[in-house]
Amino acid sequence: MKSNEKSQQLYKQAKEIMPAGVNSPVRAFGAVGGDPIFIKKGKGSRIYDVDGNSYIDYVLSWGPLILGHAEKQVVAYIKQALENGTSFGAPTESETKIAQLIKQAFPSMEKMRLVNSGTEATMSAIRLARAFTKKDKIIKFEGCYHGHTDSLLIKAGSGAATFGVPTSTGVPHDLTKNTIVLPYNDIDQLRQAIKAGHKEIAAVIIEPVCGNMGVVIPKDNYLADLRQITKEYGILLIFDEVMTGFRFCFGGAQSIFKLNPDITCLGKIIGGGLPIGAYGASQQIMDCVSPLGAMYQAGTLSGNPIAVACGLKTLQILQLVDYKKIISMTDTLCAAVESIAQENKLDVTVNHLGSMFTVFFTNKKVFDYQDASSCNIKNYAAYFTHMLEAGVYCAPSQFEANFLSFAHGKRDIEFTIQALKNALVNI
Ligand SMILES: *Cc1c(COP(=O)(O)O)cnc(C)c1O
Repeated sequence: MKSNEKSQQLYKQAKEIMPAGVNSPVRAFGAVGGDPIFIKKGKGSRIYDVDGNSYIDYVLSWGPLILGHAEKQVVAYIKQALENGTSFGAPTESETKIAQLIKQAFPSMEKMRLVNSGTEATMSAIRLARAFTKKDKIIKFEGCYHGHTDSLLIKAGSGAATFGVPTSTGVPHDLTKNTIVLPYNDIDQLRQAIKAGHKEIAAVIIEPVCGNMGVVIPKDNYLADLRQITKEYGILLIFDEVMTGFRFCFGGAQSIFKLNPDITCLGKIIGGGLPIGAYGASQQIMDCVSPLGAMYQAGTLSGNPIAVACGLKTLQILQLVDYKKIISMTDTLCAAVESIAQENKLDVTVNHLGSMFTVFFTNKKVFDYQDASSCNIKNYAAYFTHMLEAGVYCAPSQFEANFLSFAHGKRDIEFTIQALKNALVNI
C-alpha cells in the first residue's frame, strides 16, 4: 500500500475548517470512498502528493491543463506578468489579445466579455439571452452541468410534469420555475417543448459534447436539428463550451460539428489553470451588455492580468500544436480499456471524443443521464481505487470526464494500460 500519512493528517485539519475539508465537493472522494490525497506539485503529466507518491494525472484540474502541469513557457510568461502587478481594475492590452485569439478560434463570438469562472460565464449568458429576447424561460438538459448558478441547479421532476426540482437546498422554486429540464439527445421531446412554449422560451443551453455526466456524445444530427429548431422559433442557442473549448481542436465542438450557436460560454482551458471564463456572441447580441446596453454584468477581477497571461500563452501554444497527437493516444487508451474489460467479462462502455473520455461500468450505450445512471458505481469505485494505488489518478466519480494533455507520452499510456490490466482483473 502507498503511504498516505501526511495526506491524512492534512485532511483531518482541513475538515475542521472547511466543509468535508475541500473547496469543491467532488474533491472529497465521496463518490469513490477513501480520503483525498493532498497534492504538493505537478509537472507535465504527473502530480506528486505530500507523501511523495506520484501519479499520472487524467483529471488535469478538471480539464484546464491541456498542456500539462507547470508548462515551462506558461510559467515563464506568468512570472513576467507578475512583475508588473497583479490587478488594476482598468483595461490592459493582453485582454484584447486573448479575446482576438479566442475569436479566431470561435468566429461566432464576434464580441465577448471575460469573467472569472465558467459559472459566471453561463450565468451571464442566460441573463443576456433573456435581455435580448425579452423572454424568461430557458431549457436545459438533464446531466449537463453549467456551474452552480441557482436557476441551473435543477433536475427533471418525477412523472410527466415538466416542472423541475432544485438539486440543491437553498434554491427557491421561484428561481427554477423558469427552467425546463429535458433529456439529452432526445430531439422529439425538445421539439414538443419548444412548440408548446416558444413564446416564453429565451434560450436553450447545452454542453454540445457533454462531459458532466461522464462523456456523452450527441447523436447524429441532434445538434443540427437543435440549431434549426431554435432558429425557427426565435430562441437563442447557448453552447456551454467551458469544457469542450480548445479540447478537440483550436476551436470547440462548434468547429467540429460546423454549427454556430448564438452565445458561447468558455472557461477552463482559456485560463490554462488560472480562474477565467468568457461569454460571447454576435455584435448585435453583445451590445446589449452594459454600458452599451441595459444588461448589467461586471467583475472586480474580470480580465485579471495574471489569469489572462496564463490563458494567452496557453492559447498561443495551442495554436501551433497538432491535436492528432493526443487524440490518437486517447483512442489507443480507450481501445485498451475496452479489450481488457472484455477479457475480464466486465460490462464497460467507453465514450470518448478528442482527448476526453469516460469509462462507464455498464453494458448499455450511454446517450443520456438515465443511461449513465445505470452504471455500477461500486465497480467504478473499485477501479478508481486500484488505479490510484497503481499510480494513476482518474476522475474520482463515475460521472466525470477524464482528459489527456500534450505532456502525456507513450510511456504514460503504456504504464496506464498495465495498471488497467491489474485493476480490471481485480474487480
Ligand atoms: C466546469 C464547467 C462549468 C463551471 O465552471 P467553473 O469554472 O467551475 O465555475 C460550467 N459548464 C461546464 C460545461 C463545465 O464543464
